Amino acid sequence: MRIDIVTLFPELCDSFLSASILGRARAKNLFEAHCHQIRDYTTNKQKQTDDYPYGGGCGMVLYAQPIADCLRAVQQQCADQGRRKPHVVFLTAAGQPYNEETAKRLAEYDALTLVCGHYEGIDQRVIDAFGDEEISIGDYVLTGGELASLVVADSVLRLQPGVLAEEKGYQDESYWDGLLEYPQYTRPEVWEGRPVPPVLLTGDHQKIDAWRGQQSRTRTRLRRPDLYEQWCDTHPLTPGSWKRNERAALVRTEDQLNAAARVYSESWQQSHQEVCTPEFLAEHTPEAMRQRLDADREAGWAFYLHSTARTPDAIVGVCHKTGEIGRLYVAPAAQNKGIGAKLLEFARKKLPEHPHPTLTVLNTNTRALAFYRRMGWRPTGVEAVYGSDKEAGSAVYCQELKLRYEAQ
Ligand code: SAM
Repeated sequence: MRIDIVTLFPELCDSFLSASILGRARAKNLFEAHCHQIRDYTTNKQKQTDDYPYGGGCGMVLYAQPIADCLRAVQQQCADQGRRKPHVVFLTAAGQPYNEETAKRLAEYDALTLVCGHYEGIDQRVIDAFGDEEISIGDYVLTGGELASLVVADSVLRLQPGVLAEEKGYQDESYWDGLLEYPQYTRPEVWEGRPVPPVLLTGDHQKIDAWRGQQSRTRTRLRRPDLYEQWCDTHPLTPGSWKRNERAALVRTEDQLNAAARVYSESWQQSHQEVCTPEFLAEHTPEAMRQRLDADREAGWAFYLHSTARTPDAIVGVCHKTGEIGRLYVAPAAQNKGIGAKLLEFARKKLPEHPHPTLTVLNTNTRALAFYRRMGWRPTGVEAVYGSDKEAGSAVYCQELKLRYEAQ
């Protein structure tokens, strides 16, 4: 790949591209980089590169002419090398937001030219005439486009074959698969009283990969819900098939009702820990949950109790009248085994007359929300709002979202 930077500060850009990993790769000719001084292409005697903006306003604007001539020279150099016309990117604060997807896309070009503005910016006419796209590296304003062009150059060049020691190096990193990276640790095993997570010392790579995956997903869900939502939509969950020792039975008998109420109470308390006061949680005893189940059944709901090796460990309810699914709870000890996914699918299939059943979930339960998204459910609105009202048992403000099954 050939990369060209058009700037008022070519030395600054060149020194960055000559250091560290990129510098070594450049010395090995794994890519070619050229930094061009805009001033060298001016046609006026004073070598002036900028002027006052038409229409008034503060600051100066870079002339179109020297940038255009510099870009023509770069085009000619590429043509002389038998390369295609370079893809031209203008770095501007008003450009499209930059991310790893764009880096991957730009990395495919044989020749990429990055143009840096300065002062108040660049005469729009040269952007319109030569620019293939405008990119912003973030929602803030820099004094010049040099740092922005180096951010783009660095993230694109590290994707070129051979630049990083191992290809897996970048495949594991944040954003590659749309998730943030898991936390990293190195020696010593205990630093200032803080031990490395024990799983990393087991040598069991299956367990380590599973732990890292879990960390990546949790971090992304908590830190970047926007990214996590996109990831969930593109990584659907496929429920596994029932194991030999698993059963889901319609709740009919007293024993089944009481077992369902115990599972319901235990997992309800766990999932509402962060949003309810301790007193309110404590009120949700198996007896109280039994009353709720009885009331729901009278209103037309049917419940199914899931057991593994005859131990009740999850429940789900369906309402044929309304097409709702509810009370999907997996006991804490049985979580992360795929039971929730199987039971949700099971409940959905109990409602063939409702192609788009609905359910509700608290917006604070981001784990459950992500789970439903990956199972093909999408939010359609807010069903209820709970204020931070200690009297009513609510410790924080939260919304009960309504979700609808959208997948085929
Ligand atoms: N007047 C411009 C505006 O309000 O959008 C800001 C000009 S800025 C002071 C000077 C130059 O820095 C820009 O022409 C651009 O090349 C670069 N620049 C500033 N912020 C940037 C960002 N977030 N991403 C990419 N380039 C940026």
